[in-house]
Amino acid sequence: MKKIPITLIIDDSAPFISTPYFNREPKVTGDGRPLVPYYPNEAIFDLADIVEKHGIKGKFSIVPMAGNQGDIINGFEGIDKAESDAWLGCVRERIYPAFSICPEILSHCKAVDLETGKALSEREDEWSFRQDRTTLTPYITRAFELIKSAGFDSHGVTSPWNFGIEVEKEYNIALSAALYNVYGHKNAYYFLHSRRDAENAKPWIAHEEDDRCVVSIPATVRDHIWQTMDTPETGDELVRKVADAYITEDGKGGDIIKELELGAYPILCTHWQSLCSNGALTGLRALREVARRINEHLLDRVEWVSFETLLDRVVTDRDSFRTVYQKA
Ligand SMILES: [Zn+2]
Repeated sequence: MKKIPITLIIDDSAPFISTPYFNREPKVTGDGRPLVPYYPNEAIFDLADIVEKHGIKGKFSIVPMAGNQGDIINGFEGIDKAESDAWLGCVRERIYPAFSICPEILSHCKAVDLETGKALSEREDEWSFRQDRTTLTPYITRAFELIKSAGFDSHGVTSPWNFGIEVEKEYNIALSAALYNVYGHKNAYYFLHSRRDAENAKPWIAHEEDDRCVVSIPATVRDHIWQTMDTPETGDELVRKVADAYITEDGKGGDIIKELELGAYPILCTHWQSLCSNGALTGLRALREVARRINEHLLDRVEWVSFETLLDRVVTDRDSFRTVYQKA
């Protein structure tokens, strides 16, 4: 029997910058403690260890102008350039072999004025809702240019918040054009939607024009690691509780098992801030345990794939991926 693809989405990542600190008001965790503005490089080294040891694959976002604090090429306000370059170097050498790298558009904070590089007054998702292909194409082009300058190939984007959702056709057309302009790639993926608890949920073809294609890859498993940010708890009991929500110790329960029973692809979604747990890094311990359990119980049924592999499978078998899965 053919194995079911399993993949992990990691959103909101950037060197040092905690996107919630810069895009949230008030700057507090869900349980009311102050958010930390920066995460240590130890977090990316830990993630790389997990990726290499457990063979997990997926999609890793880089927010190229995170928090409107600068950019990944010229550096960020208040952050030692050597340190942010070390973060990027680790992603390039140790995450990139297993994960598709994509821009999470530009700032995940305020929209960017492309002429000046300065922040506009509006959040970039809210800004996007009033745009069309003529303004979205240069905006997404800038995101790909930064990712390319940092030494990464890319085949898609992640939408900060619900970026583009109210003008999705225009967003699809702009993404396809921007990717082709910067990289010459004809097939693009994007992550915007979630399809939890839906039967047979898989990626779908969102847009086709000439010989180009845009594929929507939805998340099907909730970010249970998120809760590690919103509690002062850091113990093994919390790590086990979070891991159980994905897959129980005996491999028989949890959301991943439920999605497989529904005939869906398990497409896990977490966030850089979830893994960093407001500096405590408890989320990384939970991810390590989830990866260990998946590999112990499920490798006869599932195989880890990157988003690029998933994209390739969809475009080479288009007729199997034309159903747009609705929300359950
Ligand atoms: Zn995000």
